[in-house]
Order: sequence, then C-alpha cells, then structure tokens
Amino acid sequence: MSRPGPEFHVISLFPEMFSPASLCGVTGKAVEQGLVGLTAYQLRDFTGGSIHPVDDSPYGGGPGMLMKPEPVFAAVEQVSSTAPPGVSVLLTPQGRRFGQEAAARLADEKRVLLFCGRYEGVDERIRPLFDEELSIGDYVLSGGELAALVIIDAVTRLVPGVLGSDESTRQESFSDGRLEYPQYTRPAVFRGEAVPDVLRSGNHAEIERWRREQSERRTRARRPDLVGVDRSAGGDRGRGEEPGDD
Ligand code: SAM
Repeated sequence: MSRPGPEFHVISLFPEMFSPASLCGVTGKAVEQGLVGLTAYQLRDFTGGSIHPVDDSPYGGGPGMLMKPEPVFAAVEQVSSTAPPGVSVLLTPQGRRFGQEAAARLADEKRVLLFCGRYEGVDERIRPLFDEELSIGDYVLSGGELAALVIIDAVTRLVPGVLGSDESTRQESFSDGRLEYPQYTRPAVFRGEAVPDVLRSGNHAEIERWRREQSERRTRARRPDLVGVDRSAGGDRGRGEEPGDD
C-alpha cells in the first residue's frame, strides 16, 4: 500500500541529525507510523570506497572549502535511481524562498530528495542535478540540515492523517494567504485578561465571523505584504499595532 506522504531522502555529512529518535512530536510520529518516509545518507559513503575528500579549495582562491562535485553526483544519481520518481532539491541561501505553497506542492510528491550543503558551499557544476533550489530565509546557516528539517516538518504536517484533523491545516496561518486568528484556552480569565465573550457564546456563526475579521485585521497589521497593502505602518518585529485590538 502506498504511503499518503512523500519519502524524504536526505543527503548530508551529518545524517545522524535525521535519526527517527531525534525527530519528536508530529514529524517523529508520522515517520514512525509510515505516513511519510525518511532515509538519510552519508555523503562520504559515495566517495568511491577509499578515503577521498568531499571538499576542496576554490579555484581562484578565497576562504573556506567547497563540496566537490563527484560524490554529490554519485549520491544524487544513486538515490534518485532507487527511490520513486519525484523532486530533487538543493538547499541553498541563494534558492527560491520556501513557503507554505511550496510545502503543499512537495506534500503531493512521491519522493523529495534534499541535498544539504556544508563548508563555504558547493561546486557550481552540481546545480543542474536538481529540479529546484530552496532557501528557508535570508540568512546563512552553517549547513543545509536545519533547512531540510524545517522543510520536512512543514511538508509532513500537510500530509493527510498526520494531524488529528485536516481542519487544523486548513485554518492555519498562510493556508489561505492570511495569518491565523487569536486563540484562547482555559482559564476564561487570566491575570485580569478575559477570553472574548463571543468565543464562549456557543454561536458558531458569530465565532466564525469574529475569527475571519480577526484574521483579516491581524494580517493587515503584521503582514500587509500578504494582502497587498503598504507595510510602512507595521512594527519592525512582525508585531505591528492591530487597530481596534482590545
Ligand atoms: N557561501 C554560501 C553563500 O554565500 O551562498 C553559503 C554556504 S552555507 C555556509 C553552507 C550550506 O548551508 C549551503 O550550501 C546550504 O546547503 C546551507 N544553507 C545555508 N543557509 C541556508 C538557507 N538560508 N536556506 C537553505 N540552506 C542554507
């Protein structure tokens, strides 16, 4: 029986970062239950048997080392030939920004191969091996492993059956281009702050309307770029004033 989510195949110099034991919560359970697959490969195993380095200094000089093309080609070609057809991703700060849409697209794939760079980066000639290049944000990490874990997590929670209710992912931030509405749990009053009456009213139509409005208002205040309005009025920590917030 085919699994509902993709098989992730990760190539890395630190495959231990992807051991099932180190994956907790939603992702760990999804792997354990076979809803998604996860196999990590040691890049050094593709250097041809003896001790061949996986890195070398850059032509033209410059700081640090680069990942050599031979083991990367050997690893990606071998893994691609054995795994089901799918998409191969190079993780790089120079890639397209990973977001919820990309997560939804990858959740529909049978196989997602993720290649994690290290050192100062990779030899330029490995780029054509990949279908796409993804970045998780405008900052430089020491390696692609954390980026791969971010992608695995965001994709896995979209796979049917992974979260208790598919409703959870439909209502989450970014799923419809908006941020999620404010949420509360017990107690009804905490340090003088009461839960909005409407949420305790039992009137589902009213609750639904309140949530839609709050979601709209919060998105405009914090992420006007998502609704196509000027962001200049927003705060600088992603917590712009929410007009009419009480
Ligand atoms: N010198 C490279 C540059 O300026 O583009 C950065 C290399 S970085 C130190 C080493 C590796 O970490 C990269 O090859 C990539 O796999 C990974 N990495 C770093 N930042 C990343 C990001 N924002 N998103 C995805 N992967 C990233």
